[in-house]
Amino acid sequence: MRIHQRSEAGRLLLDLQPAPAELTAAARARPGLDPRGPREVFIELPPGVGGHEDLHPDLLALVSLLVVAPYVDSHLDLSTPVSRELAGAVSEHLGFELGPVDADLAPREVPTGSTVTALAFSGGVDSCAASLMLPEDTIHCFLRRAGGRSWRPARYRPEAALASVRAVERAGRPAWASRSNLEFVRRPAGYPVDWSNAAPAVLTAATRPVSALALGVILEATYSLSKAGYRSVPGGRALRRWAPVFAAVGLPLALPLASVSEVVTARMMLEEGAHLQPQSCVRGLPGRPCRACVKCFRKGLIDSAWDGQTPSSSEISRALTSPEVRGLLRAAPMRCEISIAWALDRMPTAQDPLLSALSEKTTPARRYADGLDFLTAIHTPALTLMPEAMKERVLPQLERFAPLATPAQVTAVQGWDAAALVSDPDYQRGQARVLDLVPDRQPWTGEVRRRAREISWSAAGAATGIASAARRR
Ligand SMILES: [Zn+2]
Repeated sequence: MRIHQRSEAGRLLLDLQPAPAELTAAARARPGLDPRGPREVFIELPPGVGGHEDLHPDLLALVSLLVVAPYVDSHLDLSTPVSRELAGAVSEHLGFELGPVDADLAPREVPTGSTVTALAFSGGVDSCAASLMLPEDTIHCFLRRAGGRSWRPARYRPEAALASVRAVERAGRPAWASRSNLEFVRRPAGYPVDWSNAAPAVLTAATRPVSALALGVILEATYSLSKAGYRSVPGGRALRRWAPVFAAVGLPLALPLASVSEVVTARMMLEEGAHLQPQSCVRGLPGRPCRACVKCFRKGLIDSAWDGQTPSSSEISRALTSPEVRGLLRAAPMRCEISIAWALDRMPTAQDPLLSALSEKTTPARRYADGLDFLTAIHTPALTLMPEAMKERVLPQLERFAPLATPAQVTAVQGWDAAALVSDPDYQRGQARVLDLVPDRQPWTGEVRRRAREISWSAAGAATGIASAARRR
């Protein structure tokens, strides 16, 4: 692939020229490079940056990598030469050649004496929690999805995130939003790599002495606890491959929240984060989450647990209108089963048939390690996933909301295995009840409603459902 890098009217422009083989591969891959996606990618430059010439060539290259790296076959040729160090890191860790190389170009170093952090900010609960934990001079950088061939404004709504960006500014802290169509390079639209939303944060380093790039990645994502079970490589293989590439441009990746779960980030926001207007839902408006997406359902459940409340039956009915929520509840194990179980363990569920069934389904999880109380502690091994200087400032903040984990709690994190729970008889009984209550089709019409009533899932049928879910994994 070739990329011509230029700038115009406050925008960085990347003209993509995929090789024929890359387009052929793209036609098969999903997610992959959209053969009909934009070939001119734009990303708005931060205030004070006149054009692409103001950026260290390696920063320019890193932004380009965040857009196309997964789709590069064997070579990525840029119009601006890169340092030998960056080319070496890409070759070794991302597995393709980056060029041309300017042998005289010194790599961008971590600015001496600076502790300025750029945060890839989304406005969601975890991201706002990261903001709350990080020092005052942290620069909040939001990637705003814009343009795109198949953009349907009815689904994705940036307003809530933009409200959070403004809230950060009102608090006297640096924040900015960068419009970009980079998500439409991929089919279906989305981040080409998990940290593509860090592109504006990388651009910020053009004029600011940014010494670390922070991501609001929490414990569950760091160790894969929200999927099947604990993995020992923090962030997984992808992060391990990318971390040296960020480090090569003097922007070491930092995960200031890797030691705490979404249960703790929810507590942070409930107690001290309201002024940041956190909202993880990307479909609702500011202060008005859609209440029908998976994030609304799960985060709502956790907030209810902290408040000692049970979600109302109307809230549950609204959530069940969503095919995604129904899919989540019918899965075995459920995505984020660990935090759903934590929440259900801390609220009365007997009055609501669905919550009661979910409670039974999550019995094995709720029995695990003293009711999953490790989710409210700081998983100390993850504190190494941020630079030492950041840790000195962030750890006292974390400790205001969570105690350091005991050795037994650390072991409990490392032993978590959601997939192993589904064969438990309690789980299967609960799952049978959930499948009975949650049709996989939307009970809008009388016909569907009647059929949903008729379908009586036997225990054997439910077990088959579990087995097929296990096979899909
Ligand atoms: Zn929502």
